[in-house]
Order: sequence, then structure tokens, then C-alpha cells
Amino acid sequence: MSNLDIKHHRIAILTPDGSLQYTLADEMFVLNYQGEMYEVQTPSINLAVTPHHKLYVSVDGEPFDLTRAKDIEDSSIVRYKKAAVNNNSSYIFPCNGKDQYWCYFTALYIIYGHVNHETKRICLNTRDVRTTTILDKLNQKWTFTEKRGYVIDDIQTMNMFASSDMKDKNPHKIGKTNQFPNYVWSLSRSQAIFLLECIMAKCCLTTKIANQYELWTTNLQFRDNLQRLCLHAEKACDFTQTTLATNCWLLTIRSDETETEPIVSYDAMRQTTYEGKIWCLEVCTHIFYVRRDGKTCWTGNSSRHGQKGTCGMKFREEDLPFTKQGITPDIIMNPHAIPSRMTIGHLIECLASKEAVLSGNMSTSIPFSLNNRDYHRDEDGNSTVESIAESLRLLNYDPYGEEILYNPLTGRKMQAKIFIGPTFYQKLRHMVSDKCHARSHGKNEILTRQPVEGRARNGGLRFGEMERDAVLAHGAMDFLRDRLYHNSDPFKVPVCGTCRLYAIDRLNEDGSSTLLCQRCKNSQVKMIETPWCFKLLYSELYSMNIVMKHHV
Ligand SMILES: [Zn+2]
Repeated sequence: MSNLDIKHHRIAILTPDGSLQYTLADEMFVLNYQGEMYEVQTPSINLAVTPHHKLYVSVDGEPFDLTRAKDIEDSSIVRYKKAAVNNNSSYIFPCNGKDQYWCYFTALYIIYGHVNHETKRICLNTRDVRTTTILDKLNQKWTFTEKRGYVIDDIQTMNMFASSDMKDKNPHKIGKTNQFPNYVWSLSRSQAIFLLECIMAKCCLTTKIANQYELWTTNLQFRDNLQRLCLHAEKACDFTQTTLATNCWLLTIRSDETETEPIVSYDAMRQTTYEGKIWCLEVCTHIFYVRRDGKTCWTGNSSRHGQKGTCGMKFREEDLPFTKQGITPDIIMNPHAIPSRMTIGHLIECLASKEAVLSGNMSTSIPFSLNNRDYHRDEDGNSTVESIAESLRLLNYDPYGEEILYNPLTGRKMQAKIFIGPTFYQKLRHMVSDKCHARSHGKNEILTRQPVEGRARNGGLRFGEMERDAVLAHGAMDFLRDRLYHNSDPFKVPVCGTCRLYAIDRLNEDGSSTLLCQRCKNSQVKMIETPWCFKLLYSELYSMNIVMKHHV
């Protein structure tokens, strides 16, 4: 908000009928503030407002309305709004009735294209043969060159795209510029959705999971424009900065209602104190669009057995093995997780659940209890795996829960029988995208001069004692030196050959340097390489009247 220029920047506002409009702000206030702030931080909402700021929320199922932040504090269910109705009528493209091809072409332009103002041509830097079909359908005069991809010679089309905000950009830039033409913001809802889908389909860094797209980008303008396009397509789009590389963003696009109107429970709202500048905006409908840390929303003025694991790979349902009934597993787990953890209950739950599902009976799972149902008891009245197995046998199933599965790729029977059954699973909130981390260069600790630790600080990955021993055992000394010295805390220090203590490296007036020992006044001084943390140890011992002598 601090970068807002109210004379020139048009603000997205929500009209009373819930549709999206752009307008200049009436007024903006910048105040110095000291006091309470209300802060909401969830995966989809991120706001910090003063107690009197009106949020556009739905409290406890009531319709959406402007509510003071301090008044919603103890409400149990609060919905925020992220999407708006796009009331634009269909944008009229040059060739009538070819809207779909135009949208597709726009997506191609956004991903691969740029306008060359000098030659008055559009270049699409792609070799995708489907592009030919699209261009043919649009009657575009195009040529194809191996080096530059498709070149379109059509002034009318070029003017359409050149009107975008890239005019002042370097016109000679080769390759994609990821520019959105201005007319994109006039597209209707269905056109915007189709354009978004085309971009998703063409962009190579996209993944689709259920109703959700994920997209990686390093282009700031592309990121912002795509988020805006999602608003026009009535979807919710948030982004987070990833630690994989500098300036790399992960955009998440969702369209289901739980995401466009996310629920925030009251405990996500925190009261904090704040001292500093606050910004306040006045628009005609009192509802405008804000973004904080990549999360957007509309706002007003002012397994139960501890078998946790990581998801190693995701498959589509049709690529998973299936039983003769066509049942595919939701989760395939590695049996090596069982013996060391001794979670036999996990397997018994699977077996007992299968028996319960097939027989339609309830099954209690109280341990040490002999009061389970008949079919779970053996002759002594004990409920055992054997009694469950016997029950399964009577149901014409493999007594130990194994079934024949079919290979999804070939349709053939798999040779081994596979243990399969229903098991209760819980989702942990640890996500791979929150964990994955690597760095090349980065910050160092001041004291030890070694790389800092921790993903949050973009720290290095620890190469510890055990790793050192492993590399040592392999005899990979150059690698060890690289890890523990060159990439950690390399340091050079002069050492006197006579007294064997640290000497000095004196800078002369002409820029050259002299190695000198102040105690011995001799020049038998050698430069040695040592990790900084060793020099630190030397200094700490020195301060305790213990001296280490270097043999050089
Ligand atoms: Zn000396």
C-alpha cells in the first residue's frame, strides 16, 4: 500500500452486486499509529489491521458484510472473500466466432511471444506444431524459422499486442517476455477461465492436483498478472516465495468455494501491538482488493499408529494397481516401515477393518478386551488375528488380507499377493514444499564464519561428524577438504617459523605486503590455511594463557 499513487493507480473494488470493477481511490490516509493490531495468518489469508478497520467477512454464516476487526474477535467461524463476479461481456476478437483460438493464441503469446517494434512483427519462440494449427485457424500470415520460431507479419494483430504495457521494454529482446496484452482485462469470465487454462496447459512448470494448479515462476510481472487473471476468472490465487532460488514464486490457483471464500477460525486471529505508519484507503463502494505476503482477499475500508511418512510420488488413479473389483489403493506404503517400529496394530486395523467392511459388522478395537464380537474370538474367547482371519476365510477372502492385484500398465496379474485393506489415515501438515531446501552461497555466522543453519534463514545443509567419518572411510580427501574447508570457513593466517605463533601480514604503503613476526623480528613467516573455527579455538585458548604452536 505504501507504493500506491491514488492519482494514477486504479484499485480493484467490489460493487454491491459482488462484481469486480476498477476505480481511482477517493482518498488515502497515512497515519502514525501506536497500539493494537489484529493479525490473521492462515495459508490463504494474511492481514494486519487496526481494531476499527472494517473487514469484508461473513460471520457465523451471516451474509458478507463490513465488520470491525475487533467485533469479529470471538466469532467462531469467519469467512473471507477472495473472488469476485466478472461481469464483462465477451471481448470481441478480430475474427468472429474464433474466440477459443484467440484465447489460445493469447496464451501462446504470453508464454512464448514478444513484439518486435522495429520489424513490426510478433515472434513466437516455440517449435510446438500445434501452434501452426492455431495460426492457420486465425488466418495469420506467419513464417517459421528454426531459430526464432513463428514470426507473424500482421500489423493489426501486432497493434493489438503492442498496446500492452511492454512498450518501454527493450524491443530487441529475443524470446519470451511473459507480457499480458491489455485486452486480457476486458475478457469475460468464460474467456478468462479459458485463457487461464491455456496458460496452464502450455506452461511447463505447472502441476495439477484435483481442483488446484501449482505453477512456478521467477517473473515478477507474470506472477502479478497471473494473480490478476485469476481474479478475472473468479478463482483464488495465492503465491509464496520459495527458497529453491532467489525470486522464485510458487503460485497456487484454486477454484472451489472453500478456497475462494476460505473459513478462518477465531484462533487464527492474533492481537499484536504495533508502532509505525499505517495506510488507510477510501473507495466508493468501501470494499477493495488487498494482498499481503502473496495472499489476496477483499477487505473493507480500513495414521493413528504413528506411521507418518513422506509422500514419495503421486500417481493418477488409472496408473495404480487394482483388485478384481477395480479397487485402487489410496496409499501404497513401504513394508519396511513396519518391523522396526513394531506397529502391529496398524496391520491388525487393516485386517479387522476389511473384515468389518465385508461383513457389515461393527468392530471394536479396545486392546486387552475379550468382549469383542463372536467372530473376533477364538475358542478361548480371545480376539486374535487368527479369529479375524477365520472370519475372512468364511467370507471367501484371503484370511490374511492379501489379494491379487493387476498391473495398471499391462493389465496382467502381479506375481506377488499384496496386503490391502481399509485403514484410517490422517494428514499431517508437513508438506514437501515447506521442507525442500538447498543453497549454493549465502550467509555465514559472524563468530565461526561457517554457513548459518536452518531453512528459514536460507542456511547451508549440515555436513556433520558422521558425514565426515563416512567420507573419510571412502578416502575422498579432496571432497572432504572442499566441504569442510573451502565451502565452510576458509582462512589464511601467517605463522612465524621461529616462535610458531601467529604473525602479521603488514600492508605497505605501495600496496604490497610483508609477512612479519613482531616478537622475533624475522621474516621466516609462512602463510598457512586453516579453518576460521580453528583460529577461533586458538584465540580462545590464548585468552586463557594456553598457547598452541604450529609446526611450519
Ligand atoms: Zn616469531
